[in-house]
Parts: sequence; C-alpha cells; structure tokens
Amino acid sequence: VRSAETGPEIAVRRQLWSEGLRYRVRPKLPGTPDLAFPRQRVAVFVDGCFWHGCPEHYRAPKKNADFWRAKIERNRARDLQVDADLLAMGWTVLHVWDHLVRIDLQAATSLVKRAVNREPSNE
Ligand SMILES: [Zn+2]
Repeated sequence: VRSAETGPEIAVRRQLWSEGLRYRVRPKLPGTPDLAFPRQRVAVFVDGCFWHGCPEHYRAPKKNADFWRAKIERNRARDLQVDADLLAMGWTVLHVWDHLVRIDLQAATSLVKRAVNREPSNE
C-alpha cells in the first residue's frame, strides 16, 4: 500500500522543507511513516482516500466488491495497529488525508507544524 511515493506525500514534504522543517523520509518505524520528526517524536502519514477508506471519498468498486471491502478493512485495521504501536513507543501520530493535501496544502502542512511545535508534555 505504501510502496510507491505519491504526489500528495511529496507535496507535503516539499512545502515543509521550504519552510525550514527538517524530517526523516520513511524512517524505519512501525508502518513506515511518510515522514517523521525524531526529536519531537512525531510521525506523519499521508493517507490515500481510497486505500485507507476515507469516509468522504472512499467508494467501493462495483467489481469484486467483497474483495475490496475486505482489503480496505484490513488496511484500516493495520493503520490502527500501527498507531497503537507508535503511541506505545512514545510517538505522536498524525494522519493527513490526501484529499486535504490536494484541496489545501497549507492546511495540511499547518496540521503537521502544529503537531511538531507542540510543547512536550511533562510525563
Ligand atoms: Zn478523502
């Protein structure tokens, strides 16, 4: 599912980089986040609306409907497991729908910046 780099991931990375943010690309973490900020421990996934079952845009294909339903459900279950694994490791996890990137890149990067700039909690 995440084997290929998609346009929205690259758009987010370019924008953040141009604003001076520095990050790791696809680091070796659960789920291989699209980018991550190791010092702040923020992992970012840009989720494709189809593959991750966006509630606004996912439409089940008419052909092989059972196959696709099962596949997207597996993807979503894996997303939840990955989030739980990262949280257990002390990471903050941010998912950005690729539709937001396409509609409003600034809004998408603002979400990332907000997560990265948040003061660390005193735990
Ligand atoms: Zn969507």
